[in-house]
Amino acid sequence: MIGIFVFLAGITMGSFFHLVGERLPVKRSILFPRSHCTACKQPLSLPKMIPLLSYAMLKGVCKHCGTRLSLLYPMVELLSGSLFLLMYKIAGVSFEGLFLVILCSLFMIAVVSDLLYMRVPNELFLFFFPLFVIYRTLEPLLIWWEGAASLLFCFLMFYSLERFKPNSMGGADMKLFGVLAFCFGFKPFLLILFLSCISGMVYAKVFSFRLDEPFPFVPAISFSFWLYLCGAYIILPFTGSTG
Ligand SMILES: [Zn+2]
Repeated sequence: MIGIFVFLAGITMGSFFHLVGERLPVKRSILFPRSHCTACKQPLSLPKMIPLLSYAMLKGVCKHCGTRLSLLYPMVELLSGSLFLLMYKIAGVSFEGLFLVILCSLFMIAVVSDLLYMRVPNELFLFFFPLFVIYRTLEPLLIWWEGAASLLFCFLMFYSLERFKPNSMGGADMKLFGVLAFCFGFKPFLLILFLSCISGMVYAKVFSFRLDEPFPFVPAISFSFWLYLCGAYIILPFTGSTG
């Protein structure tokens, strides 16, 4: 029963993540105006704002102008619902669960921004990073300095990469890796980095990007991070550790 509630909360938050990811990079207010059709600017009426259901009710087209609505809306909503459920299964109703929800919120918004604009605004990191610092101060990793040390290692690694091969990775991608290094420590960071490179290559291949041209890499990082969480969920009952 709680699972259903968590899933519904997730899809509702997903609709908000899409809105923030779409509006923050172009400095539009996230409070006003209400969600509207991007083609004809007609606001969506209240029942049409219910996540997932609205897309199904409208059959994916705006009823005013017939423009096809982006598939990204229902996908972000469905994914957020599923992730919230996964995190609830991993951590239950706990402080750690709240931390995972906040972390996934950052990634979800970053995915939308990166897909739509190929950039993630700094404001997002400035808002979220202090929350992770507070959490890791109250709930440190097994070795309390590992988060800070991994963050430093991550910084030096990408700094060297920039010197050696400039612009090979986007600023937002490095910051997201920094967040993961800080929150989870060395091993999970390196594992997610490795998975991201593989899924990034697959992603570029599927969507026909050349590997030497910029393409949105945040979805690959996020996918790898969620894969890591799923893995932690499967292994967790046996080892009792996320590291
Ligand atoms: Zn329209």
